[in-house]
Amino acid sequence: MARPSPLEVYALLDKSNCKECGYDTCMAFATDILERKVIVQDCIHLVQDPKQAKNREKLIKLITPPQRPITVGTGDRVAIIGGEEVFYRHQLTFYNQTSIFIEIADDDGDLEEIVRYLTDLKIERIGDVLTLDGIALRNVSGDKEQFKLAASKIAELSNLPIMLCTFDVDILLYAAEAIKNKKPLLYAVTKDSWEQIGKFAVQNSLPVAVFSNELDELMSLSATLQKLGVKEMILDSGTFFGPGNLSATYDKIMQLRTAAINKGDVNAGWPVMGVPAVYWNLVKIGDDKELWEQQFQEIIMGAIMESIDTNLIVLHTGQKKEEIWALLALMTLRQSVFSDPRIYPAVDAGIYKIGEPDEMAPIFVTSNYRMTKIPVEQDLLGANLNCWLLVVDTEGIGIESAVAGGQFNAGGIAEAVKEFKAFENVKHRVLILPGMAARLSGALEDEADAFVVVGPRDSSGIPKYMDTLWKPKEFMKEYESWEK
Ligand code: SF4
Repeated sequence: MARPSPLEVYALLDKSNCKECGYDTCMAFATDILERKVIVQDCIHLVQDPKQAKNREKLIKLITPPQRPITVGTGDRVAIIGGEEVFYRHQLTFYNQTSIFIEIADDDGDLEEIVRYLTDLKIERIGDVLTLDGIALRNVSGDKEQFKLAASKIAELSNLPIMLCTFDVDILLYAAEAIKNKKPLLYAVTKDSWEQIGKFAVQNSLPVAVFSNELDELMSLSATLQKLGVKEMILDSGTFFGPGNLSATYDKIMQLRTAAINKGDVNAGWPVMGVPAVYWNLVKIGDDKELWEQQFQEIIMGAIMESIDTNLIVLHTGQKKEEIWALLALMTLRQSVFSDPRIYPAVDAGIYKIGEPDEMAPIFVTSNYRMTKIPVEQDLLGANLNCWLLVVDTEGIGIESAVAGGQFNAGGIAEAVKEFKAFENVKHRVLILPGMAARLSGALEDEADAFVVVGPRDSSGIPKYMDTLWKPKEFMKEYESWEK
């Protein structure tokens, strides 16, 4: 599917350059609407002028991605799911990372504690704060009052989006009625329940998850629901485990994505989901070995799904604090898979203050590659060090490659020392070079008029280095002896 051009968007705008939207020109607005920085409603002429209603509708159609996005939940933590324009990230970017929902049973005695934990869970990594996206409440009790009670409790305790999960239509709609103002996702519409759930979803503007492990049936359900007026849906073609079934699960997700994104099939043009939590069907209570094996398989399935841009996954593992390993793995992978390839991975060069450095505080030197500067900074903060971090412009390249490629060199570091007045805040002239740049130390001493020591190869070794090898007074004595 070809992406619309800014000119095609511009043709449908008012073209008066009135600046009401905050842009100087309609052309600038056209460019940013394609980047999803503004929406159609930000142009008051398109919204308020009845003569432009046709163009507004044309524009909405033009910019709607082949895989339409859906939203689940309300408020700050609303989950935007799907809405992708490309099959592979490198073709442009992915706009919305895989949403991770954690499953809870409605009869779980620890429900409140689990909900609080999942809501507050935050993992900071390389400058980003990683969080979960929602809670999938499963009707295990078989009781509609219990399901409604649990749904209401989650809605009261958490601002995370909620997915209500049961194939019993009466129980599903009973709980959905109670929390419909929180815009829950209704799981699941099947060939037997499409009419009842579909009508309820239309009346209450709710998103639905459609399930069938037959792709033809899934497409037929999608078409029928759209005819009924359903505006938001997500497709579940089933998650299967065991020999041969993993590839079947993978193939179906890929077929749906191909049909939506590459072929523009409107029935497939919705986000897709998977449920790695199905592995728990195999777990026998009390069998710890089996439990561990199934958890491991569940997380592998989750990782595979993330790597093919499955838009929503539901996990069971991750409810408990001791299962953080699973979420760490999946959230870290997700962060990498969904990073925007158009954003250059560099931070500003400069001198960064860490803690409350005194006049003999060390000065560490590093590169301005984002994945170098931020972990080094975090290691320094984690070690409670009071120091300075001199970040040198290496064109966003990491230390090892930048030393080899010449972007991290003695002259450049000396210039940074001068430009950012690195020695003005301290009473020494000692620089700590990363171990991977050890061969620059001699030249740097000449270029920067400094005493250069070589630190560890990895910043995780800095605390040990500081305890055993950081001797600024001795370094300065030696430096002063050179002067004589
Ligand atoms: S508000 Fe509309 S007409 Fe005015 S500059 Fe922006 S896009 Fe153009």
